[in-house]
Order: sequence, then C-alpha cells, then structure tokens
Amino acid sequence: MDPPSYEEASRQPPALPIAAFNAPPPAYDASLSSPPTPPPPIAVVSQPQPVPIAVEYLRGAPGLVRCPHCSHLVTSKVTHVPGTAAWCWCVILAMEYCMLICGFCLIPLMVQGMQDTHHSCPQCGNPLHVHKR
Ligand SMILES: [Zn+2]
Repeated sequence: MDPPSYEEASRQPPALPIAAFNAPPPAYDASLSSPPTPPPPIAVVSQPQPVPIAVEYLRGAPGLVRCPHCSHLVTSKVTHVPGTAAWCWCVILAMEYCMLICGFCLIPLMVQGMQDTHHSCPQCGNPLHVHKR
C-alpha cells in the first residue's frame, strides 16, 4: 500500500487519541493524600537576661543600668555638653586662629567627641553619671 500523498495527508486531521481527552480525570483518592503535617515544633527560645552595668562604666553611649534612685532597670538617657577639653581647645584655637577665621574656635564645642556625656534616668530623671572627656 502506498503512503498517502501530501495533499491527502494535510487534508485529514491527524488521528488524535480523542478518547484520552474526554476521559474523566483520575478520581481523587483520599487514601493517597499525605497525612496531615504535624504542627511545627514549638521552639522555646529563652532570651538572655540583660545584665546592667554599673553607672561608673557608662561612656559616650546609652547603657543599661539599674538606677540608684528609683531602682528601675533603664537605658540611660544621654545629653552631650561641651566639657573642659572642648573649652580648652576653644581657647587655644581662639588665641591661635580667630584672627584669621572668626568662629573657628567654636568648632570644639560642637564636636561630640569632645563633649561630656551626661547620663540620666529616663524614669525618674535623676542624673546617673557624667562621662568626662
Ligand atoms: Zn531612676
């Protein structure tokens, strides 16, 4: 038997297994479903207790301390105030350079690294410590 010519083959739709498309989807078999996932294990994470430091060890940044006035565990509130070092530099710069650039001597008063750090309690407002530069 001769194979069909090109015209005959192109006129006829390809023989598709239509039955496969009309077949219903496989029935959902509940027995095949995976068992319910167990609840995730509850991780018990214990936070390490924060350890307050002594007020004498407060430096240029806020620190966790126990206020000696109200006995609360607080993070100290800091304010920066120009200290002795800043004023000394201010005087030195004033004597050396303020003839050239006025206001130059005020820079040490604005530099945070030259300022004293005043720690106070945010609960009761009492001063805790002054870290001098
Ligand atoms: Zn306090």
